[in-house]
Amino acid sequence: MARFVDRATLHVQAGDGGNGCASVRREKFKPLGGPDGGNGGNGGDVVLEVDPGVHPLLDFHYRPNIRAANGRPGMGDNRHGAAGGDLHIGVPDGTVVLNENGELLADLVGVGASFVAARGGRGGLGNAALASKARKAPGFALLGEQGEALDIVLELKSVADVGLIGFPSAGKSSLVSVLSAAKPKIADYPFTTLEPNLGVVTAGSVVFTVADVPGLIPGASEGRGLGLEFLRHIERCAVLVHVVDCATAEPGRDPASDIAAVETELARYTPSLATDLADKPRLVALNKIDVPEARELAEFVAGDLRAAGHRVFLVSTATHEGLDELAYAMAEAVETDRRTRPVGAPPRMVIRPAAVDSEQFTVEVDPEIPGGFVVHGSKPERWIRQTDFTNDEAVGYLGDRLARLGVEDRLAALGAEPGAAVTIGDVTFDWEPATAAGDLEVPSGRGTDARLETTDRVPAAERKVLHRIRRGLPAEVDGPDGAPRGRSARR
Ligand code: GDP
Ligand code: MG
Repeated sequence: MARFVDRATLHVQAGDGGNGCASVRREKFKPLGGPDGGNGGNGGDVVLEVDPGVHPLLDFHYRPNIRAANGRPGMGDNRHGAAGGDLHIGVPDGTVVLNENGELLADLVGVGASFVAARGGRGGLGNAALASKARKAPGFALLGEQGEALDIVLELKSVADVGLIGFPSAGKSSLVSVLSAAKPKIADYPFTTLEPNLGVVTAGSVVFTVADVPGLIPGASEGRGLGLEFLRHIERCAVLVHVVDCATAEPGRDPASDIAAVETELARYTPSLATDLADKPRLVALNKIDVPEARELAEFVAGDLRAAGHRVFLVSTATHEGLDELAYAMAEAVETDRRTRPVGAPPRMVIRPAAVDSEQFTVEVDPEIPGGFVVHGSKPERWIRQTDFTNDEAVGYLGDRLARLGVEDRLAALGAEPGAAVTIGDVTFDWEPATAAGDLEVPSGRGTDARLETTDRVPAAERKVLHRIRRGLPAEVDGPDGAPRGRSARR
């Protein structure tokens, strides 16, 4: 049997940004030209986009790693690195994107609806772009940032208007097939691996889709059978129709208890979309009335079900009796639902929280290191990632940026002591406040190009900053190559 695939976990990896280039122009008779290192290119995003040509999520099942291209590094002579280019991945209409914890990230409905699943890293600026009046020939460039990498879960939720629910063999698939005019469409539907499941129905002037939701057996909401796989598909339906087998010979089964059992499963199911299954209108189709005993039973229970508030239809998919009335009732319910929904394109719900960063940054007492502080904020954290810690001038530039943002002042105001451990992102510094900077020595390494030393002066303000913030990682935190490691590696 073919595999049923309407849920897939993918690892998405956006492209890394290319590093900026630190380079000095070389011209004849002009031994020391200006900085001419180009910028690194941005890494590509991984973008999910509804593509009407894509049906099952089957492809993803065999290709769980998706990676967008990296940006190219900048080069000398002001040549910028090429961008990685976004990677567009086609997904079926109705795909829901969840994070690892099952939280909704995006609900992709409608052709062209798209979602950036992983953002590419920005390319680093080259030293040409970093040059300023105060810093005429930077001997460093910014590193490209890493692209986002994460696991996401794709779930396909049918966009059918009407969901048929009921026990196995109640006649749901038969009903789809006899109601629907466009049978070839059925074969396109994602879960055709099991049986025909989706049909397009025309009743009067209303055209709507009907989906069979198989596998609703007791325990389905706990995942028994393929219950959960199918329950997902009714979340978007406007109307649910109980299809009831009135001809079953199974002991302990009767229409009222079948309906109650299915309702129990629906009530136990937790939808991932913001929808309440209890709010959806229901119809009841008592099926197989071509069988005499079934008709008797249907007529016997119809009164009670109607008294309980159900709209009840007696039907036979074999003889087509009662089908028109049922189809018109479905159409009416679908129409009502469409009228109450906002007109126009279906909402493109993208719920991923944007970083709240109006304050630029926050400083908190470090719960792990006594006397230490942790700086949060997308800007300072990005700056850390962009910094080549093997280059003192780059570290100085970082200090300059942090000071200008006000991080220094905030630390001082919060009473940070000299030598306090200050953590930003995955790097921890020893903090040396400005007031303690009695010995203002110019730090040694001015980049790697010695010629820059001869002409470029470190402005006084920057010099202070250079000294105030230095990399002070404990020895065991340094990687084998002396590169800073994450604070997480320390635990
Ligand atoms: P599903 O599991 O709910 O999709 O049920 P199916 O549509 O596959 O039907 C299950 C069985 O019931 C099949 O053998 C059908 O031929 C039979 N069936 C469906 N509808 C009717 C009906 O109206 N009358 C009779 N006599 N049999 C039916
Ligand atoms: Mg079926």
